[in-house]
Amino acid sequence: MEQINKKLLVLGSQGLVGTAIKRSEIINQKFIVHYSNRAEADLTNKKEVESLFNGVKPNITINCAGKVGGILANNTQRYEFLTENLLINLNLFETLKKYENSLLINLGSSSIYPKNSKFPLKESSLMTGPLEETNSAYSLSKIVGIAMGKAIESNILKTINLIPTNLYGPNDNFDSQSSHVVPGLINKFYKAQENNDAECIVWGSGKPTRELLFVDDLVSALEVIIESNPKEEIINVGSGSEISIKDLANKISLIAGYKGKVVFDTSKPDGVLKKTLDSSIISSLNWSPKVELDDGLKRTYEWYREINNKD
Ligand code: GDP
Repeated sequence: MEQINKKLLVLGSQGLVGTAIKRSEIINQKFIVHYSNRAEADLTNKKEVESLFNGVKPNITINCAGKVGGILANNTQRYEFLTENLLINLNLFETLKKYENSLLINLGSSSIYPKNSKFPLKESSLMTGPLEETNSAYSLSKIVGIAMGKAIESNILKTINLIPTNLYGPNDNFDSQSSHVVPGLINKFYKAQENNDAECIVWGSGKPTRELLFVDDLVSALEVIIESNPKEEIINVGSGSEISIKDLANKISLIAGYKGKVVFDTSKPDGVLKKTLDSSIISSLNWSPKVELDDGLKRTYEWYREINNKD
């Protein structure tokens, strides 16, 4: 408990990861935590970033902010994904390099790894080949962020890039067009069940597999990293369990109690066929995921059902 006077700033506090950090007893007991969202500081605006940091003066910053989205949004708003995330990087690093002895934990994505890398994806495969096309604009902005962190001397700023596998949980973006696969399918099956639809459309062939991680398990990885302050600059966090989109759709259909037909729309992109991460570094720090997929999906579905019933 000696860290009680240390200040921790969470950027992107209303998103999937930011709201999960609010549930962490360990982080909230050990630190004076300031939760910041877009209403307080627009991270694409340098003046607003500077005044936020001047006010909070954090020892540790966890950056879970940024423009994120699923396969369709990434592929169709390429310019916005690239430039908005680049601007956030630039403003953050320009501001943080004025402080000494600060730690930045930057949330990344496994889409930074080349599409032809060996599985499970290792941190060392970064920049060894071309990226997958559907989200290459977003991925490039994240790779530049990693390069910026590396380029600043570590006695001024130490950056650890946390690379989670596909995350899911409450408070995600559930929009049917711009969301990732789990919230997208939860939304679709919830509505299909409510409306008694004969068919529910799932994008792609259903053949790709994804490694899914419940967001609270990522927060426990954050706790471990803050506690152990590892020397590695890039750390993967995966659940180690893989599921095909077809099996995932069937699971969510069952949870929703949907009785109609599950139809695959092959005019939509599959993205990469596989994405599993090598999580040896975080495992060596004594971290392991706790939430089983069925349990995590039920908890997320229930959260979504409840907020819809409130309206
Ligand atoms: P990715 O993991 O970066 O490719 O991003 P997503 O989570 O958006 O997509 C994962 C996979 O799920 C892709 O193969 C999609 O084609 C498939 N998928 C199936 N239905 C949906 C859906 O409703 N929304 C999204 N985002 N993906 C879907």
